Order: sequence, then structure tokens, then C-alpha cells
Amino acid sequence: MKQILILGAGMSGLCAARQLKNAGFKPILLDKGRGVGGRMATRRFEGGVFDHGAQFFTARSEEFRALLEEWRENNVAGEWFRGYPSPENDKPSDAHPRFRGESGMTGIAKWLARDLEVHSGEEIERLEFQNGRWTAFSQSGNTFEGDELILTAPVPQSLALLRNSGIKIPENDAKTLESLRYEPCFAVMANLAGPSQIAPPGALYINGEILWWLADNFQKGISPREGSVTVHSSGVWARAHYDEPQNEVGAALLQAAAPFLGAPFESFEVRRWRYSKPENPVEIGTFRLRSLNLSFAGDIFQGAKIEGAALSGLEAARKLGA
Ligand SMILES: Cc1cc2nc3c(=O)[nH]c(=O)nc-3n(C[C@H](O)[C@H](O)[C@H](O)COP(=O)(O)OP(=O)(O)OC[C@H]3O[C@@H](n4cnc5c(N)ncnc54)[C@H](O)[C@@H]3O)c2cc1C
Repeated sequence: MKQILILGAGMSGLCAARQLKNAGFKPILLDKGRGVGGRMATRRFEGGVFDHGAQFFTARSEEFRALLEEWRENNVAGEWFRGYPSPENDKPSDAHPRFRGESGMTGIAKWLARDLEVHSGEEIERLEFQNGRWTAFSQSGNTFEGDELILTAPVPQSLALLRNSGIKIPENDAKTLESLRYEPCFAVMANLAGPSQIAPPGALYINGEILWWLADNFQKGISPREGSVTVHSSGVWARAHYDEPQNEVGAALLQAAAPFLGAPFESFEVRRWRYSKPENPVEIGTFRLRSLNLSFAGDIFQGAKIEGAALSGLEAARKLGA
């Protein structure tokens, strides 16, 4: 049975693994995070539950809609709202449905990970490719072997890992991969002293110089505590303030968001995403280097979003014969 190492148990790695497993391969997922989901991240503190990475997703392709149907049937995902509510326009911008994980975005990843071999808390720091086989060395001291390797981390991280492992990829391929860029983003998760003033459905697309997005996780239906909000910075602001102390970043973003929130905050946490959304996605599905038994997958190879990440993972699996 062909053993496939998949680095990253986010949407693309999980979709690749399910497809491979169904086709009779043995996928092994490795992730440095405490759990699965990657940028589909849900966090709890002081009674609040917060989606602090991806907020919602759309389903435009037949293939992804079929996955979504299965998630809906199993109460893993459901519709949150249609269109984009924005401060200038209180009517939705379009009628297109936006979906959420019923218990937060990570819930979808957890459901996808059921019955898969997942090793969480394993940060891979070195790779070796010898005699047509891959070995991944984790910081914990564990090693994992495979006939093929699929890298689904943001591409700069995957390239750094290959570089640090002394693995050379052809110059032209390296150039293409090195050109791929992502925006940073700060996410502030705040518990307010009362309900937020964000209008139903609890989402506000700001798209401003400082703020990108606000969400009320109570209205979203994932948090039992009223006034548990997520505030996302713009990419430009995150770049300009990237190295500042997180408490200052959090306070500045909450101040900018105050007119929309309506209640003071009681507590907050900040998450800094170095690689949040792809800036220049390429629509190629996956990037495969046959001579190295190596594939790259992830949102940047197909549409830059959750749907694209899923489709890229499926395509990477198909390229291996699944
Ligand atoms: C703030 C924010 C808001 C977003 N909003 C939306 C949205 O509203 N809608 C939408 O569709 N998309 C949104 N996105 C993008 C969406 O989250 C991604 O497109 C999607 O989740 C990417 O999935 P992926 O599997 O390609 O990558 P990831 O989810 O990044 O998975 C890669 C995995 O690799 C792991 N990893 C990395 N390096 C190592 C290592 N050395 N060893 C072991 N494991 C490693 C990571 O821990 C991670 O779990 C948002 C993202 C962010 C951060």
C-alpha cells in the first residue's frame, strides 16, 4: 500500500487524505498545531467561542458543493448568511449563500479528520528524500516515512523547510513557487461587556484602511456568550504593525472597531497570521515535481479560499492516482 505523507491537516491536506484513503492509499497527516484545521481556526476563552481565521465559505463548484452537501447532512456546516453586509449598504451585496461550521470552522476539519491517521503537535523541521522515499523529522524526535510527500503549508513555509533540509528543486519551479505571496492579518477575539451592535447576521465587511471584517460569534451561532466578537485587520495595517506588541495591536483594533461594537471589551486575545490569504493565487490545482515524488497543494493553487484549498487537495490526490 502506497504511503503518502501529507504535511498540514488544514482543508487541503484533509481533503487530499480522504480522497487517497478512499482509493486505497495510506495517507499520514502531520501538523504542528494542537489540533486540525490550520487556518480554519476556532478558539475558546472566558466563555466565548471565536472563529479567528476563516469566517465563512462559499461553494461555487459542483465538486465542492457535493462535499458541502455531506457536511450539511451531518450537521457539520450550514448557511450563515447571503451577500456581504457592509457599513455603507445594509442590504446584502448579492444573494450568494455563505456557510459556517455549525460548531465553528474547526468542527468541519475535525469531522474530515475522523478515521484518518493524524499526528498533531508534530512540527516538521527537516525532510530527507533518499532512494525514492521521504522521511519527515519532527521537532519532537518522531520520524515519519512515505513514498510521496504532499506539502500543504503556505508555500513560503514549505520552501523554507525544503531549503533547510538541503533539498533542491529545479530553478524554474523554484522561481514560480517563490513568487507566491500571502497577506498578513491580525485577528482580535474579544469578549464584550454586553451584546454587540453588529446587525444581524452578525457580520460586517468593513474593507477599510485599518479594519477588514467584524463578526459576532454569538449571532453566528457558535458562541454561547453574547458579545464575543472577532475583529480582523486589513492586510496593509497588519504589515505596518506586524512586530508591535500584541496588547497594543489588540487595543488599537478594538478602538477602531468601537463604533460598531457598542459595548466595551472585558478581555481579548490576539492572533497574528503571517500568511492569511493568498495575494496572487495560480489556478493550477496542484504543483507536482514528479522526479521528487513531491506535490504542493493549498488554497494558493486554486482560488485562494476554503473551497480552493479543498479542490487543490483533491487534485493533488488525483495526480497520485486516487
Ligand atoms: C484571518 C483569515 C481570514 C480568512 N477568511 C476566509 C474566509 O472568510 N473565507 C475563506 O474561504 N477563506 C478565508 N481564509 C482563508 C482560508 O482559511 C484558507 O484558504 C484555507 O483554510 C487554507 O487551507 P490550507 O489547507 O490550504 O492551508 P492551512 O489551513 O494553512 O493548512 C496548512 C497546515 O500546515 C501546518 N504546518 C505548517 N508548517 C508545518 C510544519 N513545519 N510541520 C507541520 N505542520 C505544518 C499548519 O499548522 C496548518 O495546519 C482566511 C484566512 C485567515 C487566516
